[in-house]
Amino acid sequence: MVKFDNVTKRYGALTVLDSLNLEIAPNEKVAIIGPSGSGKTTVLRMLMTLERINDGVIYVDGEPLTHMHKNGELVPADEKHLRRVRGNIGMVFQHFNLFPHMTALKNCMEAPVHVLGLSKKEAEERAAELLDMVGLADKKNHYPNQLSGGQQQRVAIARALAMRPKVMLFDEVTSALDPELVGEVLNVIRKLGKEHNLTMLMVTHQMGFAKEFADRVCFFYGGKIAEQGTPEEIFNNPKEERTRQFLSAVL
Ligand code: ADP
Repeated sequence: MVKFDNVTKRYGALTVLDSLNLEIAPNEKVAIIGPSGSGKTTVLRMLMTLERINDGVIYVDGEPLTHMHKNGELVPADEKHLRRVRGNIGMVFQHFNLFPHMTALKNCMEAPVHVLGLSKKEAEERAAELLDMVGLADKKNHYPNQLSGGQQQRVAIARALAMRPKVMLFDEVTSALDPELVGEVLNVIRKLGKEHNLTMLMVTHQMGFAKEFADRVCFFYGGKIAEQGTPEEIFNNPKEERTRQFLSAVL
């Protein structure tokens, strides 16, 4: 469903992703862990095509994302191609990024109406259903500033799902929350994982959650995957010294 094929991303002289190879199967749940600055968020940002990569190709659902076929060659994608293939991907950010002047319901209707061309009625039905799924049926007419951080983050998840993505990206989605609000957001992600056919890629500092939820854990170090395996392998029996050091510092 997602493939990074020798992907390099540099900022000036700094190599942030270093010939990264990563393949994620349909419906697989992958947790990305690692020290600050190791390139975790950059992986998600490149998938959202928020910036260009310097080398390699990213594929989504078997199609090149960063590139397109032209006269038998793979050339850098134009905006139209990026927009179309990126439509398969939804992302939830650390700081929610809701539209502050729109209700929860309107937040979830905006892109389906303006990007997918759904009628207002269809978009409203879809939004209401998703807000119900994240436990916020009674808050749909509230504005973001009338909601707690956990509730805002659940709206953000519903909003991303309203676009019916095949892949969902979660970037430290509980890091900005008060500790007592973390559980409600993780519960929604758990439910999503169980009830929906979704490929999920999450950058997380919640090691307990990664251990319980992920099919695979990738430990990033210096823009590469230093070690990957099942949660059992990574958390209970890490092979690399760097993984051991990181885990002993955070657990
Ligand atoms: P992580 O998520 O693992 O903490 P990031 O992917 O955010 O790491 O960043 C990896 C490295 O890239 C860091 O050293 C960071 O400072 C650098 N970096 C990220 N974004 C930019 C940018 N827009 N310009 C320059 N350097 C950046």
